[in-house]
Amino acid sequence: MSISELFREIWAFVKPYRVLVLATLVLTLIGSVMAQVNAYILRYTVDEVTVLVEQHEPLKKGMHLLFVISAILLGKELIYAAVQYGQKFFGEKLRIYISRDFSQTVVERILSYRMAFYTSSENESGKLQARIDLGISSLTRLVRNFFIDILPLFANALIALIAMFTANFWIGMVSLAIIPIYYWVSVVQAHKLSGFRRRMRHYRETKSNVIISIIESISVIKSFTREDLEADKHEKIQYEITENQMRTHQIGFLFDSLKTFLEQFGVVLIIILTAYFVLNGTMSIGMIMFHIMLFNNVSAPIRRLHMIYDEVNDALIYSEAFFNILDAEEEQETSGNYMPDTIVGNIQLSHVNFEYPNGTKALHDVSMDIPANKITALVGLSGAGKSTVVNLLDKFYQPTQGNITLDGVDLQEYNTNWLRKHIGLVLQKNHIFNGSISENILYGDNEATQEDVELAAKKAYIHNDIMALPNGYASKAKLLSGGQQQRISIARLFLKNPPIIFLDEPTASLDAVATEQIKKSLDAIKQGRTVIIISHSISQIIDAENVIVLDHGRVIEQGTHDELYKNQSTYYEIFQAAANSLNLEKISDTLNE
Ligand code: ADP
Ligand code: MG
Repeated sequence: MSISELFREIWAFVKPYRVLVLATLVLTLIGSVMAQVNAYILRYTVDEVTVLVEQHEPLKKGMHLLFVISAILLGKELIYAAVQYGQKFFGEKLRIYISRDFSQTVVERILSYRMAFYTSSENESGKLQARIDLGISSLTRLVRNFFIDILPLFANALIALIAMFTANFWIGMVSLAIIPIYYWVSVVQAHKLSGFRRRMRHYRETKSNVIISIIESISVIKSFTREDLEADKHEKIQYEITENQMRTHQIGFLFDSLKTFLEQFGVVLIIILTAYFVLNGTMSIGMIMFHIMLFNNVSAPIRRLHMIYDEVNDALIYSEAFFNILDAEEEQETSGNYMPDTIVGNIQLSHVNFEYPNGTKALHDVSMDIPANKITALVGLSGAGKSTVVNLLDKFYQPTQGNITLDGVDLQEYNTNWLRKHIGLVLQKNHIFNGSISENILYGDNEATQEDVELAAKKAYIHNDIMALPNGYASKAKLLSGGQQQRISIARLFLKNPPIIFLDEPTASLDAVATEQIKKSLDAIKQGRTVIIISHSISQIIDAENVIVLDHGRVIEQGTHDELYKNQSTYYEIFQAAANSLNLEKISDTLNE
């Protein structure tokens, strides 16, 4: 991304605040013009004092001069203080507002992105978070640089340069000659640093990811006593960062020194030149200080401009990454606009092939019928592609080939949000948010009343458990046990009341008692809906009216439990294995005792 492209992207965000920008700019300009005044006053003072010293009673006449000069200087400082206050205040306001807008926009954007965006290794949580944070802080810095700082600095340098040329052509030429050399040095510097900067971004993102993954997996790290390993991982990346930082600063300092030397070289040239003019009688002594101050008025803004140029180059790397997130059109979820009045619930997959973005082929020529208002069980060993089918039905991903229809209409033609409003999903890992139990159940329907919430909780057989808690429905949901959390997510589903429900191993992580309790709430929610259940629990499979067996991404059997059992094929084997693992003989012995 070039600086001008970046500028255009940023302008879209700055535009709503252009009045604020203008106000800040005007104040900054006033401030910078006023900064020029000092040189003139100094020259005037030195020259006047020189004349006075040669006269009678210099002190008496000098008092008047001193008074005028003090009044002008103090008055100027007073106005300057007011201008600076306004400038800082408006500038800060702009920065705060814009950073808020950047933040809000990027969050809204990524929420609209498809699942593949989140599962990509480029976007692991720590990396994404670092990219967004660093991007926003770089961008707000750029907004300052582009819209507040640059123009007054240019104006300043230009005014000072004109002042120098009016003072003396040769003095003006010295300043003018320094600028392109200075500029060239800065360009070389930026070029030398760009590789380091790019690597730095990568390191920072990786580091942030390392830290987040430590926090997320702390119980595994501790139980395997792998603290050293994790510390080493961090040390390695930290070492790279340190090396990189040292090199960046080393190069930066080298070029800074070069630039300072150039500047001092200019000062020396100006002193020599002015002294020459003073000695040959064409200039007064006051001119030496005057010229040095004017040169300073040229070189200070130029120096600032180059610092900004350097900052812009640094910020460019992070802003680029930020806008890559913002402008990832291809990550946008697709949606049709078909929204029928009712859903019957007949689902059909025909010749579906699916490959995950990382290249894993998960489904091969899968065709299946899922009848409305019936329970369909997907059975198969782990990795067979069962969850993948559910992912496709929820439009989290699109089939690579083949198509999926709901009530005869291709899923792609449905409005995605509308479709998801009519589908309920319960996963093995229950999805409980930070917040109270009420809030968590209300996620199913924001408009619901407390009564509705309690009714849903009763249907999910969790109401009594909640009432037993000291804070009841206001208790933190994350503190509930796994089985209780799972029933909260079923209560949420009762509130949502969708005609189609997908249950992906809803009891896989639960103990026998919890499974038994949830079976009751699952049986309740299955009534009169199209249900797909993925489960390893025999009791739940037997209840299904339709069973589909998947193996390595292919459908190998489809029918009722009795039919498939009689087939004596894969289903029979899985069923036998599951039954044997229960040690039914001993169980029945015990129960019959
Ligand atoms: P099941 O639910 O039957 O256990 P899945 O549908 O989860 O199996 O997985 C099917 C295959 O797809 C597996 O080989 C798995 O590794 C792969 N897979 C699952 N999710 C992803 C993903 N997000 N990205 C890449 N590959 C995946
Ligand atoms: Mg699965």
